[in-house]
Amino acid sequence: MKILVTGSSGRVGSAVVERLLAADHQVHGLDARASSRQGDGYSEVVGSLDDEAAVRESVRGVEVVLHLGAFMSWAPQDKAKMFAANVEGTRVLLDAASDAGVRRFVFASSGEVYPENAPAFQPLTEDHPLNANSPYGLTKLLGEDIVRFHQRAGLMETVILRFAHTQNASELLDEDSFFSGPRFFLRPRIAQQENFGNHEVADILRAADPGHPAHILARNENGRPFRMHITDTRDMLQGILLAMEHLGAAGETFNLGATDPVDFEPLLANMSRMTGLPVVTVDLPGAGVYYHTSNAKIRDMLGFKPEWTIDRMLAEAMEARKKRRSE
Ligand code: NAD
Repeated sequence: MKILVTGSSGRVGSAVVERLLAADHQVHGLDARASSRQGDGYSEVVGSLDDEAAVRESVRGVEVVLHLGAFMSWAPQDKAKMFAANVEGTRVLLDAASDAGVRRFVFASSGEVYPENAPAFQPLTEDHPLNANSPYGLTKLLGEDIVRFHQRAGLMETVILRFAHTQNASELLDEDSFFSGPRFFLRPRIAQQENFGNHEVADILRAADPGHPAHILARNENGRPFRMHITDTRDMLQGILLAMEHLGAAGETFNLGATDPVDFEPLLANMSRMTGLPVVTVDLPGAGVYYHTSNAKIRDMLGFKPEWTIDRMLAEAMEARKKRRSE
C-alpha cells in the first residue's frame, strides 16, 4: 500500500515510517525538515503543510494519509506560524487528499482539545466537552473540525486520534530535550518560562534554584503534585497502525495514550535516585496539571494494548543518559 506520513522527520512520524517500510509498504514523507532516510520504498517531499504544490505532490497515488506533522509551540511569538501549519496546513492536505482519492485519513489531534489540564470530569473520555484553552489546543480542535467536515462529505474515511503526551523513552532524563528538559529539570524550566513570557513563574523558580543542577517536582498552589499521562512513542505507533488498518476505526475519534497516568512525586523520586540530582519542590500558581484520560474506547474497539510503563521507559532513559554522558 502507498501511504503518506506527514511529520516524517518527527518523533512519532519517523518511527511510523520505519515500521511501514519494514512491513513493505511504499511510503511518502512530507516534512518541513529533511530526514537522512533513503532507499527502497521511500520518497520524501521537503515542504510546508500549507504549501499547496508540495502537498499535492506528496499525496499523488496515495491510499492512506497519516497526518502526524504539526508545529507544537506554547510560545506566544509562534502563534501565526502554528496556525499556518496546523490549521491551514490541515485544510490544504485534506483538500488535496480528497481530490487524489485517498481512502483513509488519520489525524493526530491532542488531549489539549478538552483540555486535559482543566478537566470537567475524570477520567476524560471522548465525549468530554471540547474547550481548548491554549492556541495549540485550538489549532488541533480546528483541525478536527476540518477532518469531520470531510468525513461528513463522505469522500474519505477519517480517524481522529487524540494523542496523550508522547515521548521517546530516551528523552525522559535528557535536560536538553524539548519536553522533558523543562518538565523535570529546574534550570531548563526557568528558561522555558522566560521564553513563554511567564516572568512571575520564572522568578518563583529562580528563587528555588539551589545553585547547582536539580530536578523540579512541580505542584499546584495547594501543594498537589502534578499528574499526567506520558506515553512511549512505540505505543503510539501501535495505535496509529490500528487506526490505519482496523475497519471499525472509520469515522471514529479515540483517545490514544498509556492506560495509567504518572504521579510526579514518585516519578521525581525515581529520577533523582537514577541521576543523583536533588529534587526541588516548587508550588506554582493555579490549579496545576492533574488528569487521567481514558483509553478504554481504543482498547475495547481496536484491541490497543500499550506495553511501555513509565518504569520501563525510565530504565531505558537511564541507559540513554549514561551513553550521552560517556560520549
Ligand atoms: P514532532 O515535533 O517531533 O514532529 C512534528 C514534525 O512536523 C516535525 O518533524 C516538524 O518538522 C514537522 N512540521 C512542523 N511544522 C511543519 C510544517 N509547517 N510543514 C511540514 N512539516 C512540519 O512531534 P511529535 O511528537 O512526533 O508529534 C506528532 C503529532 O502528534 C503532532 O501532530 C503533534 O501535534 C501531535 N501530538 C504530540 C504530542 C506529544 O506529546 N509529542 C501530544 C499530543 C499531540
